[in-house]
Amino acid sequence: MGRLSGKVALVTGGAVGIGAACVVRMIESGAQVAIVDLHDDIGRKLAAQLGDNARYFHADVSAEAEVAAAIAGTVAAFGRLDVLVNNAGIAGANKPTHELTEAEWDRVQAVNVKGVFFCTKHAIAPLRAAGGGSIINLSSIYGLVGAPDLPPYHASKGAVRLMSKTDALIYAADRIRVNSIHPGFIWTPLVEQHLAAMGGDAQQHRREVGALHPLGHMGEPDDIAWGVVYLASDESKFMTGSELVIDGGYTCR
Ligand code: NAD
Repeated sequence: MGRLSGKVALVTGGAVGIGAACVVRMIESGAQVAIVDLHDDIGRKLAAQLGDNARYFHADVSAEAEVAAAIAGTVAAFGRLDVLVNNAGIAGANKPTHELTEAEWDRVQAVNVKGVFFCTKHAIAPLRAAGGGSIINLSSIYGLVGAPDLPPYHASKGAVRLMSKTDALIYAADRIRVNSIHPGFIWTPLVEQHLAAMGGDAQQHRREVGALHPLGHMGEPDDIAWGVVYLASDESKFMTGSELVIDGGYTCR
């Protein structure tokens, strides 16, 4: 029996990066998993590699009708829903606050905040029907501490932290647990693009950013995926509204 045997999970942004690692580790742990993303080719290929326990659904998490259809498709394919991983996210514009446009601000909130709202909203009925479940929201170290860049992103991750605590309180009576995860820098396409946009030597940036973590390096997607497996499993059955910080010690200082 795997740690997630009998459970059905949906992972937004599951085609690459942290989301793809979550998909792989949850399936290895016995779950059936719906991958929801915009990257249709990559998402379909990953699902095909993983076999019958994986299905791909296209949805933009900022579009309510697409989210509702992906969740309905997951329940139709696998018969239930036990776990929602709200992982899809974008970094957005990296400008100081006074230079940002309204559209740049709104796009980040639409994906990172409204996307969590839409997915949670439409997952509640199937999670209730399953007798409870686990919602896992990807926040960031920047949902806990500030940084002098990416203002819309950091605002969005602070919002996700308190959305998790609020929903933990609203749905505790339904035995739906809601927790947030706060990763330090993890080497994924998102971080690669962010560091490339800084110009110069990307590997040098990688070492410098890694050195900000007391453990001396960036994390890898599996470091977060194993935390997601734990929060998805019944091993964490007394955890709700918690912040699981997986950051190589970044926020200890
Ligand atoms: P990534 O960019 O590597 O992957 C994100 C995935 O989300 C992609 O497959 C992308 O297609 C998908 N996606 C983006 N917008 C979407 C939308 N509107 N609808 C559906 N899917 C969408 O990102 P990552 O680094 O793996 O990050 C995953 C999550 O973890 C994000 O919420 C991110 O903010 C958070 N996080 C990442 C880091 C890090 O260092 N990588 C640190 C802290 C938090």
